[in-house]
Amino acid sequence: MAFIGGSVAGMGDMYAQIQRTLGASERILDILEETPEVQLDQAPAALAAPIEGDIVFDDVHFSYPTRPDIEVLKGVSLRVKSGQKIALVGQSGAGKSTIVQLLMRYYPLAEGQITVDDRAISSYDITNLRQHIAIVPQEVMLFGGTIEENIRYGKPDATAEEINEAARRANALEFINSFPEGLGTVVGERGVKLSGGQRQRIAIARAILKDPAILILDEATSSLDAESERLVQEALDELMQNRTTLIIAHRLATIRQVDQIYVLRDGQIAEQGTHDELATREAGLYANLVKLQFEMQEKG
Ligand code: ADP
Ligand code: MG
Repeated sequence: MAFIGGSVAGMGDMYAQIQRTLGASERILDILEETPEVQLDQAPAALAAPIEGDIVFDDVHFSYPTRPDIEVLKGVSLRVKSGQKIALVGQSGAGKSTIVQLLMRYYPLAEGQITVDDRAISSYDITNLRQHIAIVPQEVMLFGGTIEENIRYGKPDATAEEINEAARRANALEFINSFPEGLGTVVGERGVKLSGGQRQRIAIARAILKDPAILILDEATSSLDAESERLVQEALDELMQNRTTLIIAHRLATIRQVDQIYVLRDGQIAEQGTHDELATREAGLYANLVKLQFEMQEKG
């Protein structure tokens, strides 16, 4: 009895702490759904032994548990060597986000294998695995607290100096310091409203602080103003350095430099190569996408 009482009280404390951190309780689920990594950063950093960040998908087949009749990935194979960058492109519904969710081990595979550093991800302690991965989502949602708390999420025991440095490297320090309260500025519903580009830079600062071997960038579809765009891109370049990076790309201009582009169509890899290889391919899917985006830009 005492034991049960004790553990429930402990959970109550934890819950209260999460509530304090996140603000209103009803928003917790929203946030966890939007940015699943928020939940996971609670695990102590000391648990995770360093990894290289070598990723392999080998003939991965997958259906969502709610739709077992529909195969969403139909034999996807890809390889990202430690420190390399790859881009996933393809129409909405092609399976890009699913690939990322499987890497994070949100669902078990039906068939095939995913390894990180030559070890099946199913054999990792799940918190350990996720400790090595940071996601910068399309639409960054911050929780209602200070900017500092939002950045600290990447590394709960970070020093003030580390947080400051992460904000600086993320091109965020200037706008943060333009607020009278600086890093102590409260954001969210009860605080200042930040622009999309500013929120992204805070998410980037959080990821820089977390310092994972593997990085996932889900590129924003909504366009930022030109100045914001430049600052965000610079911050991303800084973040990507020396990390295995998967970019879910919407704007092809940002992925010219990646090591390998995978074009997904209907749950399969339809094309694979560098930008230069794919862009010149006769009647290629990627070549077509490039042409379309170019034409759209021309029209403005
Ligand atoms: P993309 O990121 O390329 O737009 P997704 O990986 O999100 O594609 O989706 C691939 C397919 O899986 C789509 O047909 C989509 O409707 C389906 N899908 C995505 N998420 C779920 C889910 N949670 N449950 C069931 N089906 C899903
Ligand atoms: Mg998606």
